[in-house]
Amino acid sequence: MTALAPAALGPIEKTPLERYVAPAKPSLVGLTRGSLGEALAAIGVPEERQRMRVQQLWHWIYLRGVQGFEKMTTLSKELRAELEAHFTLARPEVAVEQVSVDGTRKWLLRLPSETPGERPHEVECVYIPESGRGTLCVSSQVGCTLNCSFCHTGTQRLVRNLTAGEIVGQVLVARDRLGDWPRRPGMPDLPAPSGEGIGLPEAGRLITNIVVMGMGEPLYNFEAVRDALNIVADGDGIGISKRRITLSTAGVVPNIARAGEEIGVMLAVSLHAVRDELRNGLVPLNRKYPIAQLLDACRRYPGLSNARRITFEYVMLKGVNDSLAEARALVKLLKGIPAKINLIPFNPWPGTRHQCSDWEQIEKFSEIIFNSGYASPVRTPRGRDILAACGQLKSASEKLSARERLALRAMAMTD
Ligand code: SAH
Repeated sequence: MTALAPAALGPIEKTPLERYVAPAKPSLVGLTRGSLGEALAAIGVPEERQRMRVQQLWHWIYLRGVQGFEKMTTLSKELRAELEAHFTLARPEVAVEQVSVDGTRKWLLRLPSETPGERPHEVECVYIPESGRGTLCVSSQVGCTLNCSFCHTGTQRLVRNLTAGEIVGQVLVARDRLGDWPRRPGMPDLPAPSGEGIGLPEAGRLITNIVVMGMGEPLYNFEAVRDALNIVADGDGIGISKRRITLSTAGVVPNIARAGEEIGVMLAVSLHAVRDELRNGLVPLNRKYPIAQLLDACRRYPGLSNARRITFEYVMLKGVNDSLAEARALVKLLKGIPAKINLIPFNPWPGTRHQCSDWEQIEKFSEIIFNSGYASPVRTPRGRDILAACGQLKSASEKLSARERLALRAMAMTD
């Protein structure tokens, strides 16, 4: 799936910040069915018609991807005008689009500040095409509070949580830019009946998987992430199966069981160390929720089975956590948990004190894990030339100097 659909649009140069105009009306994107019903009630749609209208809106927004109410031809002209007067279908604004030599795409998105008139916020979203699948990596917060020592995003303070609409909006923007909406000219303009799968997107979509591994800690923005992922998985709309959605957490223990119950997607845990002493330094959240508590929550993750394993992420840091003794300890630690172990070569950034482990060491580490019966794929860094790889996302508003940017790019290209 490296070739993009012909409808994919070309790169966007950076649009000047001053040109940003926050939407004046609320967007319907990201509302749950219940909230959509309330929005309709507020503009006078009678109660007995609300369910049907919600279903129609859902179809147009999430199955067809329309960006204007005038396209919703199953709604009366009056209702379309009424919707237009009060709401938008706005997604986050694309400020920059970059395409890597390996096909990875990164979008810098602008979001309105809560205080009108203040400069907009920025987050990044990355699309990674691979053979047979296409993964979209979405952000859950502007910045992050966790301060993991190896993560570039962590050097940016938290500005705010994203709304459900801004999280779903990342998926819509990516589909818009990739030309990834179903185009079926013969399709009747009636909404598909709920639950029968008639309206499902046909096979061959460019975005087949979602990972919540961009900026932020998703379990510190629980409700918005929950609502957004349930919308993305909804079979009457975008319809990406929960088995193809992975939420990655640094280990917010109290919300792990809730994630299983209320979201039910695949779980990834950023473990990175096998001893509390070391993990405290790498992932400071460990001081609050140490390894034993974290793994206990993992063991009890609802729906966990050999067919639905937890992915443990382990960033390979030279001389810090990459000894073969640690590989053996890792296997021991995860005993009894249906798990996959994902080794991530460290992606460098300017000013970091870490280095990526030597390739030979990563291979030896991986071999120990593999020989203990675990799949241990090493995550190939993608999009390093456009700073789209793990831990490299950062709002451009947190200005890097031109020199820093160049240094970062050079590191990414030569490492
Ligand atoms: N806060 C969540 C999700 C975002 S991070 C979490 O911690 O899981 C997504 C993954 O990228 C995490 O496993 C994170 O530890 C890893 N990562 C962060 N910085 C990295 C870097 N510089 N190189 C490689 N992986 C990194």
